Amino acid sequence: MKLISACLCGINCKYNGKNNSDPVFEAMLARNEVLPVCPEQLGGLPTPRPACEIIGGTGIEVLAGKARVISNDKQNLSEAFIRGAEEVLKIATDAGIKEAIFQSRSPSCGCGHVYDGTFSAHLIPGDGVTTALLQRHGIKVENEANFLNK
Ligand code: SF4
Repeated sequence: MKLISACLCGINCKYNGKNNSDPVFEAMLARNEVLPVCPEQLGGLPTPRPACEIIGGTGIEVLAGKARVISNDKQNLSEAFIRGAEEVLKIATDAGIKEAIFQSRSPSCGCGHVYDGTFSAHLIPGDGVTTALLQRHGIKVENEANFLNK
């Protein structure tokens, strides 16, 4: 069993109320091979919600209090993002899950690259807040593109 970003399985949990569905992941869900989670919803944020990016670093710096997650309407939502990451870690720990397939570029689920906080579609190397926390606890995270291209 792996964790998966819920939006990849067709659940409408994205900031804009839509999803990032892929038939491969929907089939994995139907076979009970993945457990869907949405860290932003688990952190208490509504759907739809404003688009967010990390400003001043990446997920690991948000966890350290050295960067912030900011919405495009200028709210500091770092606390909700950290809470969501902790909830996902609890779920993984309770279920004994050691791997995750997460959506690219998200300030929560991003793995390898995230947006740079300028809301201009510019990517920088690094991970989202939940990915950073899971990896710190020994859970292997890969993004959906890597998984699909294997
Ligand atoms: S937080 Fe993760 S699971 Fe939730 S919508 Fe964003 S990318 Fe998908």
